[in-house]
Amino acid sequence: MRILDRLEQLYEIGGGPGANRPHDSPEEDAAHALVAGWMRESALAVESDAHGNLFGRSAARDDIWVGSHLDSVPQGGRFDGPLGVVGGLEAVERMGRGTVVAFRGEEVGCIGSRALCAGGTAHPTAFLELHIEQGPVLERVGAPLGVVTSIVGYARGELVFEGKAGHAGTTPMDGRDDALVIAAEAILRIREAALAIDGAVATVGQVTVEPGGTNVIPERVRISIDARAPDAKRLDELVAAIGFEPAHRTLPAAMGEGPRRALLDELESRGLPAIELPSGAGHDAGILAAAGIPSALLFVRSLNGGISHNPEELSSGEDIALAIEVLAAVLDRLASSP
Ligand SMILES: [Zn+2]
Repeated sequence: MRILDRLEQLYEIGGGPGANRPHDSPEEDAAHALVAGWMRESALAVESDAHGNLFGRSAARDDIWVGSHLDSVPQGGRFDGPLGVVGGLEAVERMGRGTVVAFRGEEVGCIGSRALCAGGTAHPTAFLELHIEQGPVLERVGAPLGVVTSIVGYARGELVFEGKAGHAGTTPMDGRDDALVIAAEAILRIREAALAIDGAVATVGQVTVEPGGTNVIPERVRISIDARAPDAKRLDELVAAIGFEPAHRTLPAAMGEGPRRALLDELESRGLPAIELPSGAGHDAGILAAAGIPSALLFVRSLNGGISHNPEELSSGEDIALAIEVLAAVLDRLASSP
């Protein structure tokens, strides 16, 4: 299958193990160059905008966009991002309508789609994103595809804890001011804060310890915070409970009624279960939706228990083929309406 072969080619760019195409790296550039070549093979008009986002325009209805991102987390999987780009390319080529787009830097805060929405450049009249679920819901209910209702909001930032460095051997335990011990207590409180709010999650994924010697009491510790909640009110509560100032915040985004309905209608017309679910992960579709562009997100069943951001990430070729058929049909539906 061409799409699986292309996903493999993108996966191999970073040299492994796993996908390694961080934002603003030669690997992300290489992925964009590879996809630009495939766009030209499909006779699309290729261009990049000032933010590095890549577009492949067909001859008709180039105001309807289909796509996702090409960057990856460190040691990521094959499907997160590239599936939506190469799947979008299949759909645009098949229908001879629409524009396929690859956004920059989704994994580090949707850099490309955010810049595009903030700038004065042309916006699409609708946006469709195909993405793996990155969770276990569709596998559990036995459905190959699902339609996203809304994308959770998230806030990201950091907390810094100050202590006093000292000799690990000569400073008595009762006289210490250990920044890492203070940070450890804070991390446990962050977990409690998220547990106390329905549907909320919070994660500390990075800890930086200074000066970082095995025999030195930590003086300064910086921790990253990723906090998410299904609506704005609960996100505010979570941020307040954790007690940090988010460096950036993405509001929860409801998917657009028109394209969402078109996806559901297409699933129903094929006799497929029309499963609706929220997305716990952020996506470019959420950024475009928040900017007022009617956007929809189609999930493909993740296997292996929904594992993602990991080389074990998996969806079947059968489910992917079905997803592209549905995506192409919905692109056609949207392009046929004025
Ligand atoms: Zn993604």
